Amino acid sequence: MSTILAIDIGGTKIAVGVTTREELARDARFTTLRKEPVPAPGDPPTVIARVLEIAREIAPASGYDEIGIAIGGPLDHERGTVVNFPHLPGWKNVMLCDEIARALGAPARLDNDANLGALAEHWLGAGRRVRTMLYMTISTGIGGGLIIDDRLVHGVASAAAEVGHITVQTDGPLCDCGNAGCLERMASGTNIAREARELIAADPARGARLLELCGGDRAELTSEHIVAAVTDGDPLAMEIWERAIRYLAIGIGSILHVVAPPLVVLGGGVSQAGELLLAPLRRELARHVFYVPLDQISIVTAELGHDSALLGAAELASHSRL
Ligand SMILES: [Zn+2]
Repeated sequence: MSTILAIDIGGTKIAVGVTTREELARDARFTTLRKEPVPAPGDPPTVIARVLEIAREIAPASGYDEIGIAIGGPLDHERGTVVNFPHLPGWKNVMLCDEIARALGAPARLDNDANLGALAEHWLGAGRRVRTMLYMTISTGIGGGLIIDDRLVHGVASAAAEVGHITVQTDGPLCDCGNAGCLERMASGTNIAREARELIAADPARGARLLELCGGDRAELTSEHIVAAVTDGDPLAMEIWERAIRYLAIGIGSILHVVAPPLVVLGGGVSQAGELLLAPLRRELARHVFYVPLDQISIVTAELGHDSALLGAAELASHSRL
């Protein structure tokens, strides 16, 4: 029985978990799981030192056999290098796998958090019964992972399935990536909330319900408030929500024409809206997708929740084929 160490380095939090493959397959859990805020100032030496400290504290007597690491891209999964993690200072060309592996005496592998979310859903979640699936996470940003015939597709620089940066409106607003009208810029949780704030500023009377939900301060408005207002049938919230879903359908519809996967799994905070998201999304997809038989494609929400990237890191650690 080999002991797996899984590490997830995010923009605000780090998570470190210990498990075995058997334990994960049984109940998708970690024996020990620690989560805490990223230690200041968040540069590589500080964060790596803290991750190693936790890993040593929670290590079993036999140590670790395999290590998997999740972090946002761009990265080089073959060399185990973080090319650039823009959410924290100084994370450029960091040989993360080498450092962690040397310090803990076990081989380490890394991949981006969306790819690992896909891997986890395929292994333990909504994608257990399929060989090919598209995973999309819709939260502050929009990311994705694509599994074809049981293999994660990486492409160059692990940049395959960067579904958030598909152009869905050619003259749309500028995305952080430099392109205009990216799906992420039109439909992520952050951008849905941003659009709502702009519309409320222009017409506070129309935004009365949303303002009420966020305590009267529109700076505090989140996509969860918008989902709550959609449930109430608030016209402004429904307008924003339906527009975001139209863009999601354009983006997802394009991918369906390339891959035709039998399953699309939607994760991330926005997907917690459930059928409120899925039902109109299926309707919108039917307006764009004709050649690919939509009745053979299931669109469902993710099953694993917040720890999916960490679970995917454990899966990555234990599978040399990936
Ligand atoms: Zn973009």
